[in-house]
Amino acid sequence: MTEKLFYKDSYIKEFYAEVLSCEKEKNLYKIILDKTAFFPEGGGQTADTGFIGDAKVVDVQEKGEDIIHFADKEITGTVFCKLDFDRRYVKMQNHTGEHLMSGIAHRLFGAENVGFHLGDDVVTMDYDIQLTKEQLQQVELEANKAIYANTEIISHFPKPDELESLTYRAKLDLKENVRIIEIKDYDMCACCAPHVKRTGEVGLVKIVESMNWKGGTRLFIHCGLEGFLHYRKTYETVKAISGLLSAKQENLTQFVEKYMEDTNKLKYELEQADLERARLIATTFEKTDKSIVVKDGFLKTEGMRELVNLLKEKTDKCVCVLTGTDGAYRFIMGADNMPLRTLIKDINAKLNGKGGGNDQMVQGSFNSTFAEIEETIKSI
Ligand SMILES: [Zn+2]
Repeated sequence: MTEKLFYKDSYIKEFYAEVLSCEKEKNLYKIILDKTAFFPEGGGQTADTGFIGDAKVVDVQEKGEDIIHFADKEITGTVFCKLDFDRRYVKMQNHTGEHLMSGIAHRLFGAENVGFHLGDDVVTMDYDIQLTKEQLQQVELEANKAIYANTEIISHFPKPDELESLTYRAKLDLKENVRIIEIKDYDMCACCAPHVKRTGEVGLVKIVESMNWKGGTRLFIHCGLEGFLHYRKTYETVKAISGLLSAKQENLTQFVEKYMEDTNKLKYELEQADLERARLIATTFEKTDKSIVVKDGFLKTEGMRELVNLLKEKTDKCVCVLTGTDGAYRFIMGADNMPLRTLIKDINAKLNGKGGGNDQMVQGSFNSTFAEIEETIKSI
């Protein structure tokens, strides 16, 4: 049986322990100590990492009364153990932040927490009901006020009769060895994980994403140091965009909306000009009994396609419209009475080409000179 130091004090980052057993399994060693501050994976939270002696702990699992550390070296005797406490502390901040949010969402709107994941990059929690943006903002605001109140957080294992008299949130209906995390004035919840001592240590809580999830709501949150780093990164992005656009940060949304509207208008005008150019070029061609090859440096895809369609009316053979320069041409070809899909294979082979399509229209690129292309197409 491993003594769980993280229940005595969640701030223990270094300790000495006796190695009770160390067995090789695949390329890792399964180490059981007489006591440990390494929190195992469980309840949605990933395991602690750190060192046992000079063995690196990569995973920790609870099995019955034992806590098994998976490490990269064989260890025996009395060992000095050290947690990666920076990583653990971020988890403590996030976990307490989640309890605050869930406690408040439950009290204000009756939301039940039905899922929780606390990984290295992401913290998510799921509620059984859909909450509106305004409701979520209210929960977030109340949770931050609870942080400023710097309320005490107490963990304890109530006796069964005491437990019965308590009103607390719980995912499982356990009767024995239930550990209660009480955030005074805000929440009471059954939980096995390490928490900070006072809400002030959570620093801040921010919802960074919310979505509908199985008929309820999934939230992504950041707390504490992680929340601050996220804020710094987001702020730098906003500042950079505001600089690039020469727009005030507070008006950025309206500015970008207007910018996108203008861009769409320009795109439309450009498309119209492209089609108009194609129509003008088409008027310069007479009817012919040969294939037509045209090169133009300005046409875009829509214009090229339009020109192919217009010129098909001037020949019974094929039309090839090109843009680009020798060695790097883009083409669109069209014909009404030719098996273009098959022909393009030979043409591609001759002209270092790529691309395909159907019998009416093919498109792609030729890595050849204009003279070579013209000669090949006109010989079809
Ligand atoms: Zn919890």
